[in-house]
Amino acid sequence: MAGFCPEPSDDVVQVRDWVHAFARDVIRPAGAEWDEREETPWPVIQEAAKIGLYSLDFFATQWFEESGLALPVAFEEIFWGDAGIGLSITGTGLAAAALSANGTPEQMGEWLPQMFGTENDVKLGAFCASEPDAGSDVGAIRTRAVPDGDDWVLNGVKTWATNGGIANVHVVVASVDPSLGTRGQASFVIPPGTPGLSMGQKFRKHGIRASHTAEVVLEDVRVPGSCLLGGKEKLEARLARVRQGGRAGEQAAMRTFETTRPSVAAMAVGIARAAFEYARDYAREREQFGRRIGENQAIAFLLAEMATRVDVARLLTWRAAWMARNGRQFEQAEGSMSKLVAGETAVWVSEQAIQILGGAGYTREHPVERFHRDAKIYTIFEGTSEIQRLIIGRAVTGLPVR
Ligand SMILES: Cc1cc2nc3c(=O)[nH]c(=O)nc-3n(C[C@H](O)[C@H](O)[C@H](O)COP(=O)(O)OP(=O)(O)OC[C@H]3O[C@@H](n4cnc5c(N)ncnc54)[C@H](O)[C@@H]3O)c2cc1C
Repeated sequence: MAGFCPEPSDDVVQVRDWVHAFARDVIRPAGAEWDEREETPWPVIQEAAKIGLYSLDFFATQWFEESGLALPVAFEEIFWGDAGIGLSITGTGLAAAALSANGTPEQMGEWLPQMFGTENDVKLGAFCASEPDAGSDVGAIRTRAVPDGDDWVLNGVKTWATNGGIANVHVVVASVDPSLGTRGQASFVIPPGTPGLSMGQKFRKHGIRASHTAEVVLEDVRVPGSCLLGGKEKLEARLARVRQGGRAGEQAAMRTFETTRPSVAAMAVGIARAAFEYARDYAREREQFGRRIGENQAIAFLLAEMATRVDVARLLTWRAAWMARNGRQFEQAEGSMSKLVAGETAVWVSEQAIQILGGAGYTREHPVERFHRDAKIYTIFEGTSEIQRLIIGRAVTGLPVR
């Protein structure tokens, strides 16, 4: 197994340049409009589908690329274009990762293509874990899945689901044995058009406003046994091990979750880089006191710090992605490190970008205020910064930090 090399292969660079061109020519010019509209940018997703960027094939190829760098490199470019549209294009990928982490090969073969649809009939996927009383505390999930003959019946309310209620395929985490907390949970596919699944409130947000976020209501949602991800035998064996005091399941699930964090970190790196570049270009042009503002050390040093932090975030992201792809254990919670640093970097860098643009940066005439609004979600979703610190703190101390 080759060691970590922070230099993408020629193939990855080729894909990066192709994705960058789409982000520059299609995504970025549409960013402001869809942010204002606060609607899913279907025409942009469709254009991405037409060139093969929004497709199962693209996501699978990048996911399985041997260095692990392909997906973060591509995500950075997409989110450099625009984060709201970016999440509309990649949100299905996160649902697909959740399905792939728990599903059998047959389940993947059946449901993954239906999450993406075709270039002429684009579809979305949604991953629904969070609930009004179960955000960071996923053990508090109340949605119940109860067996009924060969079927399962689900009831509950999910919230803050990206693509929730507008997706073709929903992956829902539910409790099958509430007494076991996270270890008594299982994931289910809810097929397209299943009666009882509906969209609740659609949220109006601070940032990533082109990405749809909504409640998903499950009322007597009946699905066949084949929709239980991983199958009944595996679930029963796991529950039996847990009831006997074993550690079954939870650790593996946490590890899987860790592996998707570098992809989320890469999104934040894309926003941070976009904000840095915009502020740098502005500082080269804008003149005050008879010189360009970038000629003041105060501004140049700030840009130096911004550029450095973007590179730090990217290197941590690539290292974690490489480790995940090459079967290395995250002994120090390196996946969480990448998400923590990249999320906080995106918030900090985009705030400094506003400062460098001054009054112009505070207006919607320039994209940096949007970059800043978009960046903030990266210290909140897919595990808040506090939860990432908790995970890293436990890993580095070996103590049950609370
Ligand atoms: C735009 C958006 C999209 C989302 N997309 C999805 C999605 O597709 N699917 C999905 O399932 N969920 C999604 N979420 C939910 C997201 O993952 C949760 O918001 C996140 O996990 C935090 O949960 P919470 O909002 O309930 O905050 P809480 O858990 O209530 O936390 C509130 C605050 O308390 C802190 N806190 C909580 N516990 C501790 C602790 N033990 N120690 C220290 N601090 C603590 C948190 O860090 C945070 O600062 C999305 C959320 C948003 C806003």
